[in-house]
Amino acid sequence: SFLDQDRAYFHAYSHVGIHEEMIKDRARTDAYRDAIFFHADYIRDKVVMDVGCGTGILSIFCAYAGARKVHAVDASAIAVQAREVVKANNLSDVITVHHGRVEDLQIFEEVDVIVSEWMGYMLLYESMLGSVIYARDRWLKPGGLMLPSFATLYMAPITNAEKYSECIDFWRSVYGIDMSAMLPLAKQCSFEEPCIETVPAESVLSWPIVIKQIDCNTVTVRELETVKADFSVSSIMMAPLHGFCIWFDVSFGTRVLQETDLQSDSSLDSSFSGENDNNGNSRTKKRANPSDCIVLSTAPDSTPTHWAQTILYVYDPIEVKQDQEISGSIELSQSKENPRFLNIHLKYRSGNRECVKESVMR
Ligand code: SAH
Repeated sequence: SFLDQDRAYFHAYSHVGIHEEMIKDRARTDAYRDAIFFHADYIRDKVVMDVGCGTGILSIFCAYAGARKVHAVDASAIAVQAREVVKANNLSDVITVHHGRVEDLQIFEEVDVIVSEWMGYMLLYESMLGSVIYARDRWLKPGGLMLPSFATLYMAPITNAEKYSECIDFWRSVYGIDMSAMLPLAKQCSFEEPCIETVPAESVLSWPIVIKQIDCNTVTVRELETVKADFSVSSIMMAPLHGFCIWFDVSFGTRVLQETDLQSDSSLDSSFSGENDNNGNSRTKKRANPSDCIVLSTAPDSTPTHWAQTILYVYDPIEVKQDQEISGSIELSQSKENPRFLNIHLKYRSGNRECVKESVMR
């Protein structure tokens, strides 16, 4: 049942290891810390909600950034430790730890900021973004700040000869014995499910395909049920196409600026566009330049993170030439059996080959 699935999910977060792994992922934790401090002028004296606070680390960064009140929410038993951590750092008057699902939370004030580290493998796997959306729609003030504010999911074809020879070609000759009979099983077992691995940037065969862009301020749960993209890219080199690599980035920034921001800091002027009135003040709300904001990227050419990349290997590599077109479509949809699982439907074509690969990420 859904309840049991939830129980297992939250139980996983009661272990220390998962929090250790996340916190030690410096690219991740530094990006959140930097983003929170970058927005300190906005956060100061405001009310924040930390959806899925874990050990409470992001709530504490927000308290350091001057938040008046932080509602830290976690359904996992880790909330017990979070409360102790908050107390040991003398922040119990600022941070309230609520132990329970955000969907069951009873608080009666609106919040100015929602911070959450909700991203799963391939962004959407085991995703708790639905819970963040719920919190946003219920408690975030109009024009409030979402951290992160945007997320983008990417894909690119890759070559990975090493992996292929290690797990597949290995069976061609084992101690001089022809074990090719193992090949179909080896392919099935190695490639049926998506693999979480880091891929060297040199393995990537094309510019990234954008599968989905998410504006955390406006995205709906409906929109996330099925995510689909068609693609057509050309290979930058001659290589066997072994699969498709999926990764994401999130950015923290571009909140809708208020009139007062415009009046108090004219140095920001260059990052606005739009009409000004006679006094040089903006009449319409404008966004800061997206290029100014902090980005957490899990791309093959970024600092490796605990998300690594997600690889969809193909069963039979296709030899592609330089500039050869690789096209197709990818669809990710929430499984009916368990909404935290992802069904993946990949179609790809190159040269005279056309294939379909279905898989489930459980
Ligand atoms: N913010 C922490 C932990 C992030 S992991 C950090 O950055 O280190 C995500 C956390 O969200 C987990 O602890 C999980 O238990 C919690 N979570 C997921 N869905 C939730 C929900 N619907 N309600 C409350 N907590 C949730």
